[in-house]
Amino acid sequence: MAISAIKGFNDILPGEVEKWQHIEAVAREVFRCYGFSEIRVPIMEKTELFSRSIGDATDIVEKEMYSFIDKGENKVTLRPEGTAGVMRALIEQKLYVSDPVSKLYYMGPMFRYERPQKGRYRQFHQIGAEVTGVSDPKVDAQVLTMLCNFFQRLGLHEPSMEINSLGCPECRPAYREALKQFLRNHLSELCEDCRRRLETNPLRALDCKSEGCKVATKDAPAMIDALCSECDTHFAAVKDYLASVGTEYRINSRMVRGLDYYTRTTFEVVTGLLGSQSAVAAGGRYDGLISDLGGPAIPGIGFAMGVERVALLLDSAEFKTAPDLFIVALGEAAQKKAFTLAADLQRSGAAVELDYEGKSMKSQMRRADKLAATFTLIIGETELTSGKAPLKEMSSGLQNEINLDTDTVLSLIKRR
Ligand code: ATP
Ligand code: MG
Repeated sequence: MAISAIKGFNDILPGEVEKWQHIEAVAREVFRCYGFSEIRVPIMEKTELFSRSIGDATDIVEKEMYSFIDKGENKVTLRPEGTAGVMRALIEQKLYVSDPVSKLYYMGPMFRYERPQKGRYRQFHQIGAEVTGVSDPKVDAQVLTMLCNFFQRLGLHEPSMEINSLGCPECRPAYREALKQFLRNHLSELCEDCRRRLETNPLRALDCKSEGCKVATKDAPAMIDALCSECDTHFAAVKDYLASVGTEYRINSRMVRGLDYYTRTTFEVVTGLLGSQSAVAAGGRYDGLISDLGGPAIPGIGFAMGVERVALLLDSAEFKTAPDLFIVALGEAAQKKAFTLAADLQRSGAAVELDYEGKSMKSQMRRADKLAATFTLIIGETELTSGKAPLKEMSSGLQNEINLDTDTVLSLIKRR
């Protein structure tokens, strides 16, 4: 029996991969405009890095990590997200010494043991960005605006930005207590998960998908009503800066992120087109993370988007690549000519295909069609002798006799 891939792990095939390349290219271009550099970090880290940063009482660390013991008895984990590894690198390589403000982006696979479904996989891909070293709300607004800019450049106008503030170590503990008290009064209405994590992670009840929890927490206190004055001022400034550049957002006071390290500004980009997998990108500020990981007290903010979910919003057909030219050749001498002509054109930057097996004219034309070649050039005995051959533009059917030399062909097929 043939071997299949692991459940929840996907192949990204030609036809689909061009869309991914486009998403990545647009992301790189947007990041460039905002001053970000790429960082490539390992896909496997010590398990402790994730349990310490993401938090022991989170879904990711509690049940979703691909963790194992390697042959040297080390506890290792395939990264479930990108921020922890990037911050580990920032601290380990002391990137903050040469430049106190760093803007980094990454792209690559992440791993979570979740129930696979549309938009949710066990190996999935994120493109993410992190700014460290600045706590000013201008940075929050700029990162959010950059993210919106990315979706606009992809031609996606439907996803919308939701923002919230999760406070800081000054104001969150009191809020957590107030929320716990509220939840204790509604204990019987909560789902089993929310009851279990009431003490360790009460905020999760606010975005629990179960109907009972939704009803029970309808009038629960909100973090944004309990912010300390500094967090309140920060949040107000973020909103002002967003408004000053026309970045649209909605406040979602029930948004809590599934990772412990977030403080203050948190956000999600959501879509109505992917069912319950509605978040296409998410992130927030993490002012305590770097010091929690043993680094200096440097603030940070970042986000990650799910590439599969972004890809689901785009139509593959738009990104197909096709040859500029298919050379149809009949007879041995013509095939040789086609081979050397193709080589010259390819060297000069044209995408050229040809037949390798001496197939019939009809079969070669069919292949040119299938590949959606922009032009076909037909060479046989007569064309070799006359030095002229018909070049046909496939979309219009227009045909011209042209000189059979590389420069002429190149100028005509690249003229588009
Ligand atoms: P969700 O609420 O959908 O589980 P999350 O809060 O766990 O998302 P984050 O950890 O913030 O997600 O990751 C950022 C983005 O990565 C998400 O908004 C989503 O687009 C994508 N993502 C997360 N988990 C998966 C997965 N298992 N498969 C595909 N994409 C994912
Ligand atoms: Mg999740």
